[in-house]
Amino acid sequence: MCPCGSGQIYESCCWLYHQGAYPESAEQLMRSRYCAFVKHNVDYLLRTQHQNLSGPNDRQEILDTFQNCQWLELKILSKSKGEKSDTEGEVEFLATYANEGQIFEHREKSHFKKNGPQWLYHSIIA
Ligand SMILES: [Zn+2]
Repeated sequence: MCPCGSGQIYESCCWLYHQGAYPESAEQLMRSRYCAFVKHNVDYLLRTQHQNLSGPNDRQEILDTFQNCQWLELKILSKSKGEKSDTEGEVEFLATYANEGQIFEHREKSHFKKNGPQWLYHSIIA
């Protein structure tokens, strides 16, 4: 099963996006980014983040989370817009991870923007 929780197998879900297909919705992009954290795909995470969020240490910071966080589960809590015909959208999610034997939850409301056909992770709303 795909780590993103879609209920599909990885090869017919986030693998397609990791190979270069564009997710149709902000939620799909969100799921595929979570899945990239699980799969330690730093290049996908960098190319799906808006330059608004980019910093000089992004690659190292992502690699550090690969070391420190074992991602366990993703739940989508709410979303607005972010569908195929939209150019912006919001997704609120809860991601559970383990770090040194302890379980943590990361809750975030994210803002996504479309650049041409490609959804990008633009900013954190809350
Ligand atoms: Zn998936």
